[in-house]
Amino acid sequence: MPELPEVEITRRGLAAHLTGLKIKDVSIRNANLRWPIPKNLPKLLRGRTIASFKRRAKYLLMDCGNGTLILHLGMSGSLRILPAGTPPDIHDHFDMMLNNGLMMRLRDPRRFGAVLWHSGDARNHPLLASLGPEPLENDFDARYLYQATRGRSISIKQCIMDNHIVVGVGNIYANEALFRAGIKPQLAAGKLSLPRCTKLVAEIRATLAEAINLGGSSLRDFVNTAGKPGYFQQHYWVYGRGGEPCRRCGSPIKQIRQGQRSSFYCGSCQK
Ligand SMILES: [Zn+2]
Repeated sequence: MPELPEVEITRRGLAAHLTGLKIKDVSIRNANLRWPIPKNLPKLLRGRTIASFKRRAKYLLMDCGNGTLILHLGMSGSLRILPAGTPPDIHDHFDMMLNNGLMMRLRDPRRFGAVLWHSGDARNHPLLASLGPEPLENDFDARYLYQATRGRSISIKQCIMDNHIVVGVGNIYANEALFRAGIKPQLAAGKLSLPRCTKLVAEIRATLAEAINLGGSSLRDFVNTAGKPGYFQQHYWVYGRGGEPCRRCGSPIKQIRQGQRSSFYCGSCQK
């Protein structure tokens, strides 16, 4: 599943290649994504100039002057830039042709992605309005996390994966950040002290920032690649390593289920 770093890398690639270009046309081959692609999208987009690509949580926001195209990659989506006229694959559901002979193409085999339109301020769209702060921005800090977790008996891992508390911390990065902060994933969120909140916020930021930097090196392959853009192999501390030795102390990494997701942690390094 594309997590926040992949989405941010995609945003950077799209922004670098498409900002300032004029939209020639739009082609919808299969409108049945998580929500239907609006039928009037070609009419809304034809002739508009792409002003910017922003990101909120894992939503990509393409500002077109008269409104915003909201894109989400869902479980299996990817966006690529290709020469217009490149024959589509069965999973290529949406193309946006530009005035320079290129197009942006959405491939989404599982069709949990989204292509939506919002004519007002995108931050007020129902999907975005109640989201918590961005993990890499300043309003997500130790004091905020401390306040947000008081009185909560839910586990700290489920808390940091809750989009109302902080957005974009998916399963991989929650596991990794908790290991790096020395915090057990099943610890009740309300028991986290302020110094441990400081540590956790710093590690969430560092884990995501490192993944984005790593993905940045694949940015030049963004155009005309057959593969998925911005997906990169990483060296994980605990994620996906159940039963293997901890890279810090050698104890076997434990694997448990929390809220339908796998958690991985070291019983000696994380308290
Ligand atoms: Zn360990």
